[in-house]
Amino acid sequence: MFGFGKKKIEYVQIDHELLEEIMDIAKESYPNEFSAMLQGKVEDNILKIDGLIFLPGAASESGAVMEIFMMPMLSDAVGSVHSHPGYDASPSTADLQFFSKQGSFHIIIAQPYDLDSIRAYDTFGEPAEFEVV
Ligand SMILES: [Zn+2]
Repeated sequence: MFGFGKKKIEYVQIDHELLEEIMDIAKESYPNEFSAMLQGKVEDNILKIDGLIFLPGAASESGAVMEIFMMPMLSDAVGSVHSHPGYDASPSTADLQFFSKQGSFHIIIAQPYDLDSIRAYDTFGEPAEFEVV
């Protein structure tokens, strides 16, 4: 499903507490976007995402994704998450460029910032599935 370095990934698991944290931060940041890198590891062909990496200056500014785009890839960063003010969780052109360069798995959360408004994408901007654990 995904390539991640030399490892093949069959599916993605996200910790449910992490998703709740993402929803909370998205709500608190509104009307600004928030963005962070996703932290995780590959075990038995499963990409397990269990943390966020906040980058200095990347919070609460529109266009924050472009700022982290400039950051070197962090060793345990496997992708990204950012929020959209509004109800559309589709990736923008800038998002797609970012996805193609930074990591394998990307989350966009749109309003109302609940579980149903979370969308995940692969490095090509194609919808990606994940399992909540
Ligand atoms: Zn975006």
